[in-house]
Amino acid sequence: MQPLKDRLIAKINAEGPLSIAEYMTICLLDPVQGYYPTRDPLGSDGDFITAPEISQMFGEVIGLWCIQTWQDMGRPNRLHLIELGPGRGIMMSDILRAAQLDKAFMKAVNVTLIEASPALEAVQGKTLSSAPCPISWAASLDKAPQGPAIIIGNEFLDCLPIRQFIQKDRFAGRAGWQERMVAVDDGNLRFGISPASISETVQATLPAAQEDAKDDDLLEVCPASAQIVDQVKARFDRDSGRALFIDYGPETTEFGDSLQALKRHKKVGVFSDPGNTDLTARVDFGALQELARAVDLPVTLPVPQREFLSKLGLEMRAVALSRAQPNSKDKIARQLHRLTASDEMGELFKAICFQSEGLSLPLGFRELA
Ligand code: SAH
Repeated sequence: MQPLKDRLIAKINAEGPLSIAEYMTICLLDPVQGYYPTRDPLGSDGDFITAPEISQMFGEVIGLWCIQTWQDMGRPNRLHLIELGPGRGIMMSDILRAAQLDKAFMKAVNVTLIEASPALEAVQGKTLSSAPCPISWAASLDKAPQGPAIIIGNEFLDCLPIRQFIQKDRFAGRAGWQERMVAVDDGNLRFGISPASISETVQATLPAAQEDAKDDDLLEVCPASAQIVDQVKARFDRDSGRALFIDYGPETTEFGDSLQALKRHKKVGVFSDPGNTDLTARVDFGALQELARAVDLPVTLPVPQREFLSKLGLEMRAVALSRAQPNSKDKIARQLHRLTASDEMGELFKAICFQSEGLSLPLGFRELA
């Protein structure tokens, strides 16, 4: 079969430039040659590593967060624990192990996993083959079973496709934005810019910070995460719940191109090897709050991962674990450092939580926005 890069070039030659979101969708999710459907990208042999892959403590304290949330929700006797983009299923397995502290919670809980990659779905099935509660898969959040729910996603929002816009005439305001595209030049993939300004419908999706843009400032918008916020809202209008997302990105909207490709833990060019590199963009936590407020969905202010995990008792968990496994003391200290140090994941990564009306402030957060 033709390499994905050549297929993309042929497609653009025939149909015209692609938005960055279209490009990301094909590279990440093409069923035959896309990045996620064709491999297990995680771990030290893979392209990137995530918090649950660094340490079991991460999922364990989130397990405690889930028990607390279930209690805050009034201990419903059926609870759906829904995970978006579960990777290898490690976080869920750590959550469920820790959650066995509360037998009543375990009796209530059913797990639903939402995974775009058949390869990873198979790995999840293995990791969770002896899970202490029923596990099933759903195609999307909309298709997940109804009822009170805890929704979680770690490093899920960063792989959702973004569109990029560049302000070309700030005096024109929202009408000054033009879309950055993927074009072909001299037989190669290149960035280009759409000559026309974006439609009013798309203008309306720009975050409020667009007002402060100077000429040539770039803004990123993630339509798929807006859709997730809407789906969470629809769900929480019917049934109680919380949705917790942890990812990398700033607390408020920032200008600038953040699209990046990773291969074997190193940054590479975003056009270097389509379908064989991980593509992500930072999550705009400012925009997420705006989206939630626009539909009256209660949301917390984002907090740095270090603060969130610390409030969940990560350090205490590390001490307990080191006591139980004295030979692993140094390793556990290193893991703790990676998750919380400000030059590691501690500050760059943030947690944010959406919830149904009437719930208290969730554990780990400072205040509702
Ligand atoms: N949460 C895991 C994995 C993060 S990698 C961890 O922290 O280790 C991103 C995960 O999201 C992968 O499982 C990937 O296959 C999945 N994914 C990417 N795009 C998706 C989509 N549109 N819908 C569902 N899952 C998706």
